[in-house]
Amino acid sequence: MANHLFDFFRARLPGAGRTFIETADGRRITYGDLLARSARMANALVALGVKPGDRVAVQAEKSPAFLDLYLGCVRAGAAFLPLNTAYTPAEIEYFLGDAEPALFVCDPAKRAALEPVARARRVPAVETLGADETGTLADKCAAAATAFADVARAAGDIAAILYTSGTTGRSKGAMLTHENLRSNADTLTDYWRFGRDDVLIHALPVYHTHGLFVATNVILAAGASMIFLPKLDPDQILKLFARATSMMGVPTFYTRLLQHPGLTKEAAKGMRLFVSGSAPLLAETHREWQARTGHAILERYGMTETGMNTSNPYDGDRIAGTVGFPLPGVEIRVADPESGKLLPPETIGMLEVKGPNVFVGYWRMPEKTKAEFRPDGFFITGDLGKIDARGYVHIVGRGKDLIISGGFNVYPKEVESEIDALPGVVESAVIGVPHADFGEGVTAVVVMQKAAKLSEAEVLAALGQRLAKFKLPKRVIFVADLPRNTMGKVQKNVLRDQYGKLYQ
Ligand code: AMP
Repeated sequence: MANHLFDFFRARLPGAGRTFIETADGRRITYGDLLARSARMANALVALGVKPGDRVAVQAEKSPAFLDLYLGCVRAGAAFLPLNTAYTPAEIEYFLGDAEPALFVCDPAKRAALEPVARARRVPAVETLGADETGTLADKCAAAATAFADVARAAGDIAAILYTSGTTGRSKGAMLTHENLRSNADTLTDYWRFGRDDVLIHALPVYHTHGLFVATNVILAAGASMIFLPKLDPDQILKLFARATSMMGVPTFYTRLLQHPGLTKEAAKGMRLFVSGSAPLLAETHREWQARTGHAILERYGMTETGMNTSNPYDGDRIAGTVGFPLPGVEIRVADPESGKLLPPETIGMLEVKGPNVFVGYWRMPEKTKAEFRPDGFFITGDLGKIDARGYVHIVGRGKDLIISGGFNVYPKEVESEIDALPGVVESAVIGVPHADFGEGVTAVVVMQKAAKLSEAEVLAALGQRLAKFKLPKRVIFVADLPRNTMGKVQKNVLRDQYGKLYQ
């Protein structure tokens, strides 16, 4: 039997001398290097006692060696389990206890803090890997052979476990199969027209599905190259526009780049594609970007559990405020969140998805898995949205962000869109806060442009013209910034905690 995912990449490899990764400090990793380096890593993993089906957990900084570890796991038949670099030792302890990995890899600087945690959780092996590719695991790779017979893996075998960001409740480990990753990479490469001459600006973290599977797997499937930046750096990214072809980013990338005076049509003329996802892109950002660069950002929608589900078209209208069409082979429907009954077009409900991209379940949580799938195999995404008459999918927010005030459903996105359209408003977040009379009180948290002046009463008066009374915020709070996580998502749970006692 073959190795389902790695064979797919192998079959599409370009010449050994072609560039796979270029680093910010000018190092070049070729496709020939990639084969040798991932083989060394697979040999090192086997020598460390990693067996097919074992988990390999890693909390390490972004580097090409991080991807060697990913591909080494795939080749050795292990499940790759990357962890957010922001997690504290206490959080890491939870993940190690839950996943029971055969090996834990961490940054050399964190070894002293993390090794006792790993030992307490009986993880048999702990190794280190630094951003500069030093560490005990790097040493073992250097001593290992550059040939490796890939372990046989079928389409349905687990290639990776990615923990969800867990903004409510415990973080869950989404089990992704070889075919989940292969099919999504294959589809996206075609849909977004990636080819060998593409050069992708990669400034995303690699522990998250966006930077790891969307970006890296597409580049591998296309035999293209990418420029690895440790983080978002607008100056550096603008310089790279001159020799890159594409960029994948979260909305924050686009808003930050828009603040740079160097962002012009001329600067972006060699680029062919800008992709945004992981959080909603403001329609305003889409319009400003198009005006400044001449490019329509292509917005897509996906999640840890499913990889990518929808995308705006490559050719055709990329419509601001929508996430486009279901990808080929992916089915999306809108259902009543309670009954599961299908809803007609243009009606807001729960988005449900089915396809080869959809994960097989949460690690060691059969009950949770069962609760999030319909009997006919559709996964209940937790995202509320609708499909319009042209077939474009719109997301109105997470189901758990829905506000129920006085018995009426209020979709935060609808109120946010009205507030965002007011002069001087940069952005807003609308949340439900416990309220003695209404159950939840609609509450708006608003960021204004520096020079702009708008009072709470003015916002309410303007909204009063446009929205039904039950949707109107009870309070409008002005802040300098909204709290965001690294993927650019507004952390409404943080806001709900912060303003939890507003009406008491
Ligand atoms: P994650 O599992 O961290 O990738 O987060 C997935 C969630 O991010 C989805 O369930 C959506 O709520 C949100 N998301 C991803 N892409 C978009 C998008 N283009 N627009 C709005 N929300 C998005």
